[in-house]
Order: sequence, then structure tokens, then C-alpha cells
Amino acid sequence: MDYFSTRGRAPRLGFADVLLGGLAPDGGLYLPSVWPTISGAEIAAFAAMPYADVAADVVSRFTGDDIPGDLLLSMCRDAYAGFGHKAVAPLVQSGPNAWILELFHGPTLAFKDLAMQLLARLMDHVLGARGRRATIVGATSGDTGSAAIEAFRGSSKVDVFILFPKGRTSEVQQRQMTTVADENVHAVAIEGSFDDCQALVKALFARDRFRERVAMAAINSINWARIVAQTAYYFSAAAALGAPGRKVSFTVPTGNFGDIFAGHVARRMGLPIDRLVIATNRNDILARTFAEGRYEVRGVVPTESPSMDIQISSNFERLLSEALDHDGAAVTRLMHGLAQSGAFTIPDGAMERIRGEFSADRADEAETAEAMAAAWNRSGYLADPHTAVALAVAGRIPVSDVPMVTLATANPAKFPAAVEEATGVRPPLPAHLRDLFERQERYTVLANDVRALEHHIEARARAATLEA
Ligand SMILES: *Cc1c(COP(=O)(O)O)cnc(C)c1O
Repeated sequence: MDYFSTRGRAPRLGFADVLLGGLAPDGGLYLPSVWPTISGAEIAAFAAMPYADVAADVVSRFTGDDIPGDLLLSMCRDAYAGFGHKAVAPLVQSGPNAWILELFHGPTLAFKDLAMQLLARLMDHVLGARGRRATIVGATSGDTGSAAIEAFRGSSKVDVFILFPKGRTSEVQQRQMTTVADENVHAVAIEGSFDDCQALVKALFARDRFRERVAMAAINSINWARIVAQTAYYFSAAAALGAPGRKVSFTVPTGNFGDIFAGHVARRMGLPIDRLVIATNRNDILARTFAEGRYEVRGVVPTESPSMDIQISSNFERLLSEALDHDGAAVTRLMHGLAQSGAFTIPDGAMERIRGEFSADRADEAETAEAMAAAWNRSGYLADPHTAVALAVAGRIPVSDVPMVTLATANPAKFPAAVEEATGVRPPLPAHLRDLFERQERYTVLANDVRALEHHIEARARAATLEA
């Protein structure tokens, strides 16, 4: 299995190199050169298999010979063994032919754990085999950072630098990142927005000397291994609801377009998905793009669903590449337009193809709070604000024979203030996080400045020290 860059001007790589590399040297994102398929009989068999085994099967289609199959299976079993629910990603019925797919039973209470726990094991294995170290630099709007820190803490091969927008994450999210004592963990509060943090990571990646000196690796949702790890739960959920004999639809609370792109991958692999619905909060660049055919960045507005307070949805480039028949020059032109003027217009043919496979809608703050209140009042279900954005959007779609699955991306206890305001109920933190507010915080505040960040990392990354 080899991978090409969406911009078409980088060498093709195998899975292990894509895993460590993140962004392609031409600025593009990697996609597999063919879509592996999973047959109807194999999908049907998933219904009776443990989650970890389904994940190993789905992921194995993308790893080629780089990860032996039995090792991948033991990594998956290990990655999901610590989850707080036996089913790992359980389905809960929420209405007539409506279901919630709970993806928040991992250690940091958001769906990011599903990918990150596996990613850390994959990276450790590949680095060990090559006798190398790496430095992870990741931007987070809250949940990626804590999931990465939890997955990589104590690693002898990897140092983790996590940039978060100062004061824009929830208190629980911040403390999950800043109270970890392991020396290989470095939390950095940036004076700026999440998009600023993400731009800093991209700028560091573009600095060849720095990238090579610290062996920089990416754990953001542009990392292909994260996407494929997430593809697994589309299969497990659909199989549980009767696929391949029955089609299933999904509504996905969307920020960086990683989670919903994993649904697109599942569909490409043969999973009979009827609708993939993108749900955004007030930061609705994707919903506007679907309405207008024009991708246009506006300022980020802080909301109660901060992990979706994003204007530049990085993984959307992968979908553009698909819709443009992998024409690297065309993708490059659009992305240059974005960099220069903050906007691009999607050619009509490509936009039609995208609309044929996805739809998009948004929920504002009042609608999100209403969705939380409605879920609580109707069925005693506490949804976090991200999940509630998707519940609000899914709720507008008429009930049909096709089951609608809404992805629940965070435990409500991660956002207690917003949940309490909407429902009157304050969700308690699970036992392993009860003393979170008594723990000592440790983090550095830096300006939104790439040089300052570069110095900060070079002074601390073990990969750099070794080679100096
Ligand atoms: C990251 C995140 C999202 C958005 O997922 P993307 O893959 O970035 O689209 C939604 N909800 C929660 C709770 C998240 O942490």
C-alpha cells in the first residue's frame, strides 16, 4: 500500500513513513493510492467481533507489510483495554430509528482517544524498529492535546509539545494537559486562536532544518493513521445496526473534518452509508461552503463547543482531492488561493460530487443548548455541547427506514458548565479524574511567534540533543 500527496509533488511513501511524517513535503496530505475494500460477508461478521478486533481488521487494510498483523491485533487490544465501557464504542438508542454512538469512554473522555491510543503504539513500534526518536508538535483546540499527552506520556522515544489557545479551552481540558508530570510532556499556551496554533505547527513543518533536527512528527488529524483508526467505528456501528443488509446514516460534529472523513473512507471501502451529515457550530465554514460552493474563512467565534471552533478544516483538502480526481495541480491552486486571500471557489463539477455524498448544516448556541435540554428531558440523556450540535442538526432530518447514528464525541463531564446551564444537571468527572482540580499545573505561555516556539522546542527535545 503506498500513499500520494494531495498536491501531487511529493514522493510516494509507505504506511510507516506516512505515520511518522504527517504533512507531505509539498504541503499536501497523504491519501492511499487505492481504496481497499471490505466485503459484505466480512462486514456482517464484524457484528459478532470485539471492537479491538474490528479495528485491527480495518486498519490492517492500510498498513501493508509495515506492521505485522498479529502485532497490530495485540496493539489494538492493548489500546482499547483501558476504556471505561466493555463495548469500547457502544450504541445507545435515542429515538425512533435514531442512535448515539458513544466515543468518549477512553481515558481523556473524548473520541480522540480511539485514534491516539493506537497511534502511540504504532509510532513506538516503528521508531523502535528504526532505532530513532521523534518530537511531536501538535495544535489542539482542547481534546487532541489531552488525548496525545495521555497516549504518549512516559514514552522513551517521543517528546510531546502541545500548543493550545490560551484561555479558550475548557478548564477540564486545560488541566488534563497541564497536570501531567512526565518529563517528555510539554504543554504550551499560545496567545492566539486554535487556527493560530495550527498555523504555527504548519510553519514549523515547513522549516526543513528544524523538522529534520528534532525529527518532527504530527499527531493532528492530518495524520493518516488517526483517520483509519476512526474508520473502524463506522464499521462496528453499521454492522451492529444490520449492515451490509441495511444502509446506515451518520451525523458528525465536525471541526477539522477528520472524523467525518473517516466515514467517507468507510464508504469508499464498501460500507453502505446512506448519508454523511456534517454538523458545525457557529463557526460554520463547511455549512456555508455547501450552501455557496465557496470556501471562505471568517474570524473564529468562541462557543461552548470549543473543539469545533475552527475555520480552516485541514482534512477538507483530502475531500477536495477526491472530488477533483486527485489532480494535484488543481488542489494546489485552490489551497494557494486560501493562503493568499482566505478563500477559494470549488469548481461546479467537484462541488456537485461533494454534495452527492455529504450534506452540511449548523447549530447556533441556543439550538445547541436546546438540544442538550431536549435529550435530557425526553430520555434522561446528558449530551456534551459537541454532541448536541450534531443532535440539533440530525433532529431536523425526517425519520426514515435508515437508522441515523449521531456521533457522541465527548463525555458531558468534560464541559460541565455548559451542560449544567442547559439541563440543570452537573455531570461528575469519572473516578480517575476526580482530583483533577487539586493537581499541580505546569505549562509555558508563548506569543504567537514561530521563532520563539522553535527555540522553546529545540532547547527541550531529546531528538535534537542527541544530534547536536
Ligand atoms: C476534535 C473534536 C471534534 C471535531 O472532530 P474533527 O475530526 O476535527 O472534525 C468534535 N467534537 C469533539 C469533542 C472533539 O474533540
